[in-house]
Amino acid sequence: MLIISEQAVRDSVGRADAAAAVESVFAAMAAGDARNFPVVREAIGHADALYGFKSGFDRGELTLGVKSGGYWPGNAARGLTNHQSTVLLFDPDTGQPRALVGGNYLTALRTAAASAVSIRHLARPDAATLGIVGAGHQAPFQLRAALEERRFQRVVAWNRSPERLNDLAAAAAEAGVAFETVDRDTLCRQADVIITITSCFEPLLSARQIRPGTHIACMGTDTAGKQEIDPAILAAAEVFTDEVAQAAGIGECQHAVAQGLIAAEAIRPVGDVIRNADTFARAAGTVTVFDGTGVGLQDLAVARVAVERAVAAGSAVEASL
Ligand code: NAD
Repeated sequence: MLIISEQAVRDSVGRADAAAAVESVFAAMAAGDARNFPVVREAIGHADALYGFKSGFDRGELTLGVKSGGYWPGNAARGLTNHQSTVLLFDPDTGQPRALVGGNYLTALRTAAASAVSIRHLARPDAATLGIVGAGHQAPFQLRAALEERRFQRVVAWNRSPERLNDLAAAAAEAGVAFETVDRDTLCRQADVIITITSCFEPLLSARQIRPGTHIACMGTDTAGKQEIDPAILAAAEVFTDEVAQAAGIGECQHAVAQGLIAAEAIRPVGDVIRNADTFARAAGTVTVFDGTGVGLQDLAVARVAVERAVAAGSAVEASL
């Protein structure tokens, strides 16, 4: 078995690699060639932790595995990341473990890749201003990946606690893009693409704020009860997702579906657009929403690339069980 450390993942997998892997596995999911298995997520009654598994199998790439981990809210006080995860890949022919891959950086990369892929396929080609709602751990990853998909000239951002926006400002500066902290009305008025990446349980953006032609990637809602945007936005938009059942159950779409504002059948897998099975021609005034719920196959796809790259770079460690 191979061990790919967090550092080896950082050193070997780039944003373009992650976006290509995620784009390809979204297409495989939509084609029925790759399947996510039911997610387990439980409060363990210790350290306030949420722990679970996301797993799946990609028949085309022969990638079988599981990402296990969760959320330990006390970790930051210990100098550790609150989100902790590890990926285990198996040989689909024998069930033997193939590789153990550090999953923390990989999770940030694959989540950023998902909103970037949605921008690639759904946002207006002339999108010039990027809006970011949220400024936690994940936000700079979303920003950097998004900047690679369009010629964005400005980033406008909002966070509940504005002092946390420094990391986003630094990421924009690093990319040579102008950055401004704004209120949410201004953000929606100016941004052509909006990424929401918060842990919020109520709508932060209302339908009256959203301009025609906007693309919104909702990335924070991955659990029952969470919410980032007004369900009325979804009712009036073309809605896409990574996995329809998960969007309707635990994604941003959960509220609109529960309120009968949209039918689960109306939510489209972005993978269909990637494969051209469902060509999407954006009309000028259309609002598009990508509900990025986060699926195990994204993790496995990027972990597979990490293994390939780390082996090539000589940073994979061989171990036997
Ligand atoms: P974080 O804890 O570092 O940051 C949380 C962010 O949410 C901060 O910007 C905070 O200000 C904001 N926030 C929290 N409560 C809020 C409220 N009531 N109103 C407004 N803003 C609020 O978390 P992170 O690592 O940046 O992740 C952000 C969210 O994305 C989390 O909820 C996480 O579960 C989710 N996530 C989703 C995926 C996916 O694939 N969809 C992957 C990773 C993380």
